[in-house]
Amino acid sequence: MDADAIVVGGGFVGLHTAYRLHKSGLRVVVVGGEGPRRGASWGNAGLIHQGSTTTVPEIMGFWRVVRLALRRGSYISSNPWIALRESLPGGWLWRYARSLKKEQLAVRAALLARLVRESKKLWLEIIRSEELDTELLEQGSIEAYFSEELFSLESRVVSEESAKLGYRVQILEGEKCRELEPLLREGVAGGLYYVDDAWVNPSKTLNSLISALQRLGVQIVWERVRGVREDGDGVKVEADSGGLRAGHVVLAAGAWTRNLLKSLGVEIPLIAGRGYLAVSEPVKKRLSRPLFYADEKIVIGQTADGNLRFTSYFELNNPDAPLDRSKIIQMVRKAKRAIKLEDEVRIVDEWVGSRPCIPDGLPLVGRIGGKGRVLVATGLCRLGLTLSPATAMLVEDVITGRENPLLQHFSPARFS
Ligand SMILES: Cc1cc2nc3c(=O)[nH]c(=O)nc-3n(C[C@H](O)[C@H](O)[C@H](O)COP(=O)(O)OP(=O)(O)OC[C@H]3O[C@@H](n4cnc5c(N)ncnc54)[C@H](O)[C@@H]3O)c2cc1C
Repeated sequence: MDADAIVVGGGFVGLHTAYRLHKSGLRVVVVGGEGPRRGASWGNAGLIHQGSTTTVPEIMGFWRVVRLALRRGSYISSNPWIALRESLPGGWLWRYARSLKKEQLAVRAALLARLVRESKKLWLEIIRSEELDTELLEQGSIEAYFSEELFSLESRVVSEESAKLGYRVQILEGEKCRELEPLLREGVAGGLYYVDDAWVNPSKTLNSLISALQRLGVQIVWERVRGVREDGDGVKVEADSGGLRAGHVVLAAGAWTRNLLKSLGVEIPLIAGRGYLAVSEPVKKRLSRPLFYADEKIVIGQTADGNLRFTSYFELNNPDAPLDRSKIIQMVRKAKRAIKLEDEVRIVDEWVGSRPCIPDGLPLVGRIGGKGRVLVATGLCRLGLTLSPATAMLVEDVITGRENPLLQHFSPARFS
């Protein structure tokens, strides 16, 4: 065997998994794909978020979201062929619409809230123990609303949910919100202050985690895996430069995991919910903390060097489709309506990445395939940065045989 475990995928889920398996004494190799910039982990908004256990359609109503998706320039959009294919019975959108039942939502929110709490602790532990370079900020985050109607709707849902699930949110009036974030323009109707949110610079954190793993002796190869097959008492992974064999293989290839599973004859409902990032050159003004411009669904963060990071959109598309530049231009233009910036904000980097999304909104973690030596760990969608350490812990539980009652809720068997 070349290793005890091979982890396929070099995003946060794959790397945290490699870390935990290494710490539990296994010899681990990561086959990370075409470089760190490829996955969603590279360019996300950086929030280790305590809320978000309720999804947009739950708050707005499914049909309002559908209408929004059909509007030009909206933050939700879809490749028409994918929308058609996934709306058919058994497709992703079909399953998603069916998963929005009240009882299921309450169970799901409670499970996610539990994982989110656990995961933040694990993030802080690994940042400290491995001295990761993350630019960690622990000042919470603000969601600012300019529309009275939206603020009244969402603040009511979030205040009920936070009381039930035990995370802290302060509901702020407009002026209070501007006191907390002086860069906000006039006309703010109100805000939600997520007191316990943290923020990291995602690309820096990813690079630092890669270096930490290499220091610990975990081998990382940046190659693509073309297929996986069970082979005697192990699993064979076909990578670009040849085959590797291990006792366990963990598929953590984000939005590409669906294709990899096809080589094992397994079909899972997983789609790419693509999001965009624009990075500005450093600006002198400083945001007090990460800001979510709720009306346009744009997160604005700022690096230690002063670069603003604008992230937004949920685009159902092929994970390898090219970046749509008009979205970058539109996002930055809209963000300027919320915050006071110099007239010219020069964009120095643009990126698009794919959130791996499962229709019921829960992670997909567990054994798959005949002999149970292949595991899958994906589906974290909008919460993948936040939840990656807790997901890695679940993988470790499966491989080491540790009892964890949570695992039954995340099993791939729920789609078979
Ligand atoms: C714009 C945007 C903003 C976001 N903001 C937040 C946020 O603020 N907070 C939060 O918690 N989450 C956020 N997310 C979600 C989060 O980024 C993702 O859920 C998370 O990064 C998923 O991690 P992953 O490791 O599963 O997948 P990825 O990061 O996509 O990693 C998948 C890896 O698999 C590799 N791979 C693919 N195919 C193969 C193959 N054949 N062989 C080998 N390797 C392969 C890829 O190269 C990549 O390294 C955001 C996402 C986006 C796009």
